[in-house]
Amino acid sequence: MGTKSKALFDRAQAVIPGGVNSPVRACKSVGCDPLFIERAKGANVYDADGNGYLDYVGSWGPMILGHAPERVNAVLRDAIEKGTSFGAPTELEIDLAELVIDTVKSVDVVRMVNSGTEATMSAIRLARGFTGRDIVIKFDGCYHGHADSFLVAAGSGVATFNIAGSPGVPDDTIKHTLSIPYNDIEKVREVMTKMGDKVACIIVEPIAGNMGFIKPKNDFLKVLREETEKHGALLILDEVMTGFRVALGGAQELFGVTPDLTTMGKVIGGGLPVGAYGGRADIMAQISPCGPVYQAGTLSGNPLAMAAGIETLKAIREPGFYEALTEKTTRLVNGLAGAAGKAGIPHTADTAGSMFGLYFTGMDVANFEDAKTSNLDLFSAYYRRMLEEGVYLAPSQFEAGFVSAAHTDEDIDATIAAATKVLAELAR
Ligand code: PLP
Repeated sequence: MGTKSKALFDRAQAVIPGGVNSPVRACKSVGCDPLFIERAKGANVYDADGNGYLDYVGSWGPMILGHAPERVNAVLRDAIEKGTSFGAPTELEIDLAELVIDTVKSVDVVRMVNSGTEATMSAIRLARGFTGRDIVIKFDGCYHGHADSFLVAAGSGVATFNIAGSPGVPDDTIKHTLSIPYNDIEKVREVMTKMGDKVACIIVEPIAGNMGFIKPKNDFLKVLREETEKHGALLILDEVMTGFRVALGGAQELFGVTPDLTTMGKVIGGGLPVGAYGGRADIMAQISPCGPVYQAGTLSGNPLAMAAGIETLKAIREPGFYEALTEKTTRLVNGLAGAAGKAGIPHTADTAGSMFGLYFTGMDVANFEDAKTSNLDLFSAYYRRMLEEGVYLAPSQFEAGFVSAAHTDEDIDATIAAATKVLAELAR
């Protein structure tokens, strides 16, 4: 880490908890201090010391077009001139809602919020209000934001720091949350048989990206659809990460599963704070002011955020966008896996669209317990050495990686070359 990043981290730690506004950014689990980013353009981020890095974090998912894309910058400049917040309806909100509904087939009606956490928190409130039931079923290692109900065996930072739950969350709240292993169809059936009539919803990351990267296996999502339908519960696909990322229509398009509700975030805001939840019109009609389930937001539908979201969705809807991105990402992942293979390091790698993961374990990873067999010391060393080689990865084994449209073939080649060098070195 350069001297300026170090000085900024010292300053930050005095005034911000741990020096960061979101825990994984502190890089604790990989044994180094964070880089302070000054600017970013295309596939690159630049730290306060002027070093450039090829970025596979993409602000944890939103930057599918790369950083500061000119077409998004242009609409943002225009939007700023018209005023940054009105707290009143705008045409931009309709434009983004129409684009989302046209892109995500299961969504009839959509409500904009400011983050993925707000989206999932509101969606389970709606599921509970609609069904009149309390129990929420989630899966170990899935992360649905930091609302109280979800901090049970959660992924992302909660997994990175190995936290079982969180102080401050009342037992009375989490007693309504049941967390079971991802991809465990038998367990789902068993639980639904036992208590299906009390279950408001099953919420799931349709591809898990917060315990590394794990695809649903053996019709897992179809079974969730069947079981929820059978017992009168709702199925919520949390596509905050996978939405507009693994395919234009999200993971639900990829796997042919139609949820009752979908939660969205990240790409939908093109790098500005936006979340959204939407789905069946009869369910969404329960939301205030149409119905009794309350949810609101001072900055919801913010004109800058809407403008960035609209322009981003327009860009990703252009023909060939996903084909090119998927091909690049597949080549990257094959290259990373090849590098680990050449070095004789046990590994498992997978990808969907422009999202990917690489575990340092020889086993086929189907759930959080499998993910935890990964060699975390090796991952930390890999992370630090890749950074020295100019590649900026997510600082945790339990996070997914993202490729953007701004990554060039040369960027992918350079990343594979760096991984080949680093992994050969670490295998010695
Ligand atoms: N749901 C999923 C699947 C996520 O990956 C995340 C964040 O990473 C969230 C919800 C929470 O979103 P946010 O961080 O915008 O609150």
